[in-house]
Amino acid sequence: DDLINVLKKVENGIELTEDDIVVILSSSGDKNLNSIFKAADEMRKAVVGDIVDIRAAIEFSNICRKNCFYCGLRRDNLSVERYRMDIDEIIQTAKELKKMGIRTVILQSGEDPWYTENKIIEIIKKIKKETNMRITLSIGERSYEEYKHFREAGANNFLLKIETTNREIFKNIHPDDDFDYRVKCSEWLRENGYVNGNGNIIGLPGQTARDIAKDILFFKDMGIHMVGIGPFVPATGTPLETYPHGDVEMTLKTVAATRLVLKNVFIPATTALATIDKDAQVKALMAGANTIMLISTPSKYRSRYKIYSNKNMVDLQTAYRAVIKAGRKMPPYINLEYIKDSE
Ligand code: SAM
Ligand code: SF4
Repeated sequence: DDLINVLKKVENGIELTEDDIVVILSSSGDKNLNSIFKAADEMRKAVVGDIVDIRAAIEFSNICRKNCFYCGLRRDNLSVERYRMDIDEIIQTAKELKKMGIRTVILQSGEDPWYTENKIIEIIKKIKKETNMRITLSIGERSYEEYKHFREAGANNFLLKIETTNREIFKNIHPDDDFDYRVKCSEWLRENGYVNGNGNIIGLPGQTARDIAKDILFFKDMGIHMVGIGPFVPATGTPLETYPHGDVEMTLKTVAATRLVLKNVFIPATTALATIDKDAQVKALMAGANTIMLISTPSKYRSRYKIYSNKNMVDLQTAYRAVIKAGRKMPPYINLEYIKDSE
């Protein structure tokens, strides 16, 4: 049948077409799913190995000038108690992560203009000086010049998701955004030499398997290095608060297809997956994923960074358990003393 032919193409190193990816994403039944996940897992093992990279995010501000329909941090959500971490607090948190052995810190926030170009540059430079960690920025859309200057200051990676390549859906859920500008931003990141992160949300209103297949080919065409794939999770106080969450199985199939098509990339087992199903991070690790992002925001702010409701807290212990359960390896540089009980 169709799926068998597609997996044969994978085995023979033949590039998959949009139709092939749709076949993967439309498959169902344990037998078919297992053969898809197995193929992706073999590809993952062959190209990136068994170590699960552990990164840590500091969500340093939940203030946002935008109104994305899906996101709990959107500016019109008045039920959110807003916060900003000052520069010293961010640096202190980063130093703790360094002690834990973390090598990449992700600085994430709403689109918060209080963090001017100069402030972000100061944060990057101080973290570099004090910890020498790699820095991923996830702070949304900025100008070409800003991306350039952040890179020159020492930022290594950037995470800016297209969310969906279906222009119609993109427009419906992004009242402030222009699809073409978003793509431009991604191109600028590439031009400036960032390790370029992108990604999508699975289960947006009106999204089809073909839309998702097109997302994957977009990541390929753009030369993306890191793909964050998360199910939609409803957030209270948003226009989509009663819309059903994205399907875990579809998310896992997308992870697998992304591994099969893009091959040598970072794919996180996302927090959004863990939020819907506590075993889903393990399943993602066994379907092509190779990274886990810890939530390392200071606890007094954590509950306020509610991009969606019931957001799961992924700490080092959670990540460790998932890695072991998936039969994989922790990075040797992680300080295991920071795991409260490593049983
Ligand atoms: N403001 C920056 C931006 O939008 O790129 C960074 C922070 S934003 C909260 C990070 C990611 O959260 C977005 O790219 C989006 O994919 C994800 N996100 C937000 N709300 C979500 C929801 N309800 N379900 C799933 N993912 C969501
Ligand atoms: Fe703001 Fe990012 Fe949430 Fe959109 S997804 S509302 S830009 S924090």
